[in-house]
Amino acid sequence: MTRSLPGRDRRAVRHPGPLGAQTLDLPHQVAVIGGGIAGLAASTVLAEHGVTVTLFESSDRLGGRVASWPLPGHRTMSRGFHAFFRQYYNLRSLLRRTDPTLRHLVPVSDYPLQRPDGLRDSFTNLPRTPPWSVLEFVRQSPSFSLRSLSKVDVKAALELLQVHFPGTYDDYDGETAAAFLDRLRFPRDARDLALEVFARSFFADPTHFAAGELVAMFHTYFLGSAEGLLFDVPDDDYDTCLWAPLGEHLAGLGVTVRTGTCVAGLSVDDDGVRVTAGQESLSVDAAVLAADPRAARALVAGLTIEPESTTWKDDVAATYNAPPFVVVRLWLGGHVHGDRPAFLGTAGYGPLDNVSVLERFEEGAAAWSRARGGSVVELHAYACAPEVAEDPEAAAEVVTRLVEELHRVYPETTQVPVLAREVLVRDDCTLIGPEPWRQRPGVTTPSPRLMLAGDWVRCDYPVALMERAATTGFMAANELLSGWGAAGEDLWTVPVRGLIRRR
Ligand SMILES: Cc1cc2nc3c(=O)[nH]c(=O)nc-3n(C[C@H](O)[C@H](O)[C@H](O)COP(=O)(O)OP(=O)(O)OC[C@H]3O[C@@H](n4cnc5c(N)ncnc54)[C@H](O)[C@@H]3O)c2cc1C
Repeated sequence: MTRSLPGRDRRAVRHPGPLGAQTLDLPHQVAVIGGGIAGLAASTVLAEHGVTVTLFESSDRLGGRVASWPLPGHRTMSRGFHAFFRQYYNLRSLLRRTDPTLRHLVPVSDYPLQRPDGLRDSFTNLPRTPPWSVLEFVRQSPSFSLRSLSKVDVKAALELLQVHFPGTYDDYDGETAAAFLDRLRFPRDARDLALEVFARSFFADPTHFAAGELVAMFHTYFLGSAEGLLFDVPDDDYDTCLWAPLGEHLAGLGVTVRTGTCVAGLSVDDDGVRVTAGQESLSVDAAVLAADPRAARALVAGLTIEPESTTWKDDVAATYNAPPFVVVRLWLGGHVHGDRPAFLGTAGYGPLDNVSVLERFEEGAAAWSRARGGSVVELHAYACAPEVAEDPEAAAEVVTRLVEELHRVYPETTQVPVLAREVLVRDDCTLIGPEPWRQRPGVTTPSPRLMLAGDWVRCDYPVALMERAATTGFMAANELLSGWGAAGEDLWTVPVRGLIRRR
């Protein structure tokens, strides 16, 4: 794998993959369960090194939580807007397999945060290298006044610059993001930015979100990386530009891709792994369990594994999902104003967390917009009340509120007819709470034949969400390959230490 830098940050860190033969001399078969980013990453690296891979995906398409699917009238739907940060080195490496120059990722020039009191933060025109990026952001931001900054607890603030992974995750065991910002005496107006925008984008209420994850995120995006604060988005729906090409690439590598096939059971012993899906069962040398957190918990609960470990099973069972989220996509009979950004974060507008205007970046939405003379607008609400997942009336209420809040944020939408509407209510994301970090199951399991991968799995590098999924997928493949004496994939991360050394 290349030793040149994966981005512009000269301090980016390479974590070498296992050394060994480029391809295996003996045949090995692996079942990968889950065709989201983690399963796709694991399948890719395994197949590239000569492993015979069968990839099981219960839904009818690849991409997992980043899948998209077609709708009548040349429209598509998905779980919606995803930010592909420049710091996502391992995810980008996966995507480069089919798009070597990443021409399908296009920059979003800003993602302002708007509040009803008129305060508006912006991330555009900032230097990209810390500490200048952060200092300039704080200088420009209306959320940080000199008075509020003078009250900040300097010792706690220094912790943000003294991170040291993996230790930083453990340092905050038991502390929530909200409690950490209280301790920091973080300026009140800026809390919206830190908590509402970021903690909630992790699907979490800040009072249940791990401080370690928040500190890691400040480091990854703001304080520890010279990739800058902006991000990219795919230039068309996810299936068209990301996962369908990757599926074809995998097929070309000899991977058997079994979409529409739900794995119902697993058993692991010293001789191998048996995977049951419907009436069939497949015997393989090893498996990577890359299902979403709830499905992974169910499979582990029913798993027979040698050596048996109740502690490990209990640790998997102790993980939990975040509250439900709601995504509403509206196809409007008129345009939003031309100066509306591609993505707007919001705070103080009821359940509304963000608004995106899809024709600004997605080719399919742009084509619809040109043909029909209207905008395609998407609204997100994270960390909703639990009943929203179970009670259609509670969900409908959130949808009504979201549309009302859209009318406040972009008043021109009030008069515009809604030509089509899609609503998606799910609770399939993990929540990283303040429980001890070491208790979270990692990639390796009690058996060298079974690996875990996904954004819910402990990874000691400063990575999260899609990048944690890609990184743990690569790590799972590396573990298996190294056990068989084969080389694997180099990993890259932002620096694993902060700008200031701890004493
Ligand atoms: C609304 C929303 C917005 C988001 N925004 C961002 C963002 O801006 N930036 C970011 O980095 N991340 C974001 N995320 C998070 C991101 O989507 C996830 O971190 C990532 O997709 C997780 O990938 P994964 O491979 O771990 O899991 P998944 O994508 O959940 O993949 C697991 C797969 O396993 C399959 N499966 C489950 N059970 C079985 C079984 N028994 N047999 C076979 N297959 C099975 C599932 O169908 C699924 O396809 C967002 C998520 C949502 C929902």
